[in-house]
Amino acid sequence: MTTFRNYIAGKWVASKTGKTFPNRNPADQSDVIGEFPASDPRDVDAAVVAAKKAFDGWRRTPAPKRGELIFKVGEILSRRKEEIARAMTREMGKVLKETRGDVQEGIDTAVVHGGEGRRLHGFSAPSELPNKAGWTVRAPIGVAGLITPWNFPLAIPTWKSFPALVAGNTVILKPASDTPHCSHLLVEAFEEAGFPAGVVNLIHGSGSTVGNALVEHPEVRVISFTGSTAVGRDISAKAGKALKRVSLELGGKNAMIVMDDADLELALEGVLWGAFGTTGQRCTATSRLILHQSVREEFVRRLIGRVATLKVGSGLDETTDVGPLINKARVEAVDEYVRIGTKEGELLCGGAPLRSGAHRKGCFYAPTVFDRVPPSARIAREEIFGPVLSILTVKDLDEALRCLNDTAYGLSSSIYTRDINNAFYAIQELETGIVYVNAPTIGAECHYPFGGTKDTGNGHREGGTHPVYEVFTEWKTIYVDYSGRLQKAQIDNRKNE
Ligand code: NAD
Repeated sequence: MTTFRNYIAGKWVASKTGKTFPNRNPADQSDVIGEFPASDPRDVDAAVVAAKKAFDGWRRTPAPKRGELIFKVGEILSRRKEEIARAMTREMGKVLKETRGDVQEGIDTAVVHGGEGRRLHGFSAPSELPNKAGWTVRAPIGVAGLITPWNFPLAIPTWKSFPALVAGNTVILKPASDTPHCSHLLVEAFEEAGFPAGVVNLIHGSGSTVGNALVEHPEVRVISFTGSTAVGRDISAKAGKALKRVSLELGGKNAMIVMDDADLELALEGVLWGAFGTTGQRCTATSRLILHQSVREEFVRRLIGRVATLKVGSGLDETTDVGPLINKARVEAVDEYVRIGTKEGELLCGGAPLRSGAHRKGCFYAPTVFDRVPPSARIAREEIFGPVLSILTVKDLDEALRCLNDTAYGLSSSIYTRDINNAFYAIQELETGIVYVNAPTIGAECHYPFGGTKDTGNGHREGGTHPVYEVFTEWKTIYVDYSGRLQKAQIDNRKNE
């Protein structure tokens, strides 16, 4: 049994608690990947001391040099892609083609942000006064606390850490307790790339202890959090009081509209991937399907035929379509929603955990579809985060758009139509941060902004180049007056008015 450690000040160290927790394979709960440190606020304190100490040297390192180290991490991830993808499938269950995609997203993110080291653009504008110049630069904030979920255990830590580091911050990463191994492997890549001690730190442990200690630590000046809306609200309140910069990427209740003129076969492929890819455990998962009434019957018939063919099993088996849920608690939570759903809609398929034969040791759940779900139903409104799809029926585009927007969340949406006017009208009316036309609600690319409206976040975005640097930098505005005299803005150039 391997016992893993935290990474503080460039060294792998045990937690001051001396305690550990096991990390289990969700496809086979008897398979323990290793023991990880159950850290507490003393470990967070040590990481903050290291990150603060490293900050001055790191912020003075030219940004292009910082970017070059990120490129190196990308090269290491490329070299170790297959090994990390397999470790990820073992640790969190999603199928190999998806975990290869997760690692690839980390590599792509290195390409974007490594290059950003040579841009990190500010702007200049002419001064209103003669012989005076003004411009802006982006300055780092300080120590950044990065708190991540388990569903994209490599990609999300890279989305946060790469821009934070290129901007000149030092970081402390707190991964989800279900996926500590992937973050361990990422930090190995940072170490191999040659990051100075203290610039990158890793602390394992529970959210309520380690995550909360990061949020409450006065020397951690920026928190970047991805996770549930409930925890995000709590973090926002605490960090807001301390006037910290906080970026929140939270839950979703995403929907796909299929119009009467849609390519049904394309839409069918889309909904299968959107609803059951990653076992429905994506913040952008398609959890509502809004069907135009004239295609409903035909589409539902074809959909159920296809769902029946999905193979549920270990993600390490290349023939598997749908892997396990992340842990037993999630099986119970999804099952609870399914119990609620049977009173709210018509259960067409699935509806139960899979606990026998090849599934007996894991956290498997049958792909589930509910039809005739009213918009007021809890399964149409609340995030389930599992392989459960709710079908709603509408009579026209306006009703479809109203129905799609009628949710507390605002992450991702999709419409299948061949009518260009319908497509552009939907793009205009949809309230989500991400809109897809003729593609499912999942499939973000790392060089575009990622995030949502309403209860999905607090207005920040990850990804892209400009938006994520709003999270990790301060604007510094510089004025240089080379006139040799005192010039008063707003006053001297209005003397004759
Ligand atoms: P979660 O909120 O339970 O945990 C997320 C992280 O926060 C974990 O590292 C956890 O340990 C930590 N945490 C928990 N309680 C904390 C506290 N009180 N203080 C500080 N940190 C704490 O979420 P999860 O179950 O890991 O992930 C699933 C959720 O994440 C879903 O709601 C999903 O929609 C959301 N998500 C959103 C995005 C996005 O970009 N919008 C992406 C992926 C996942």
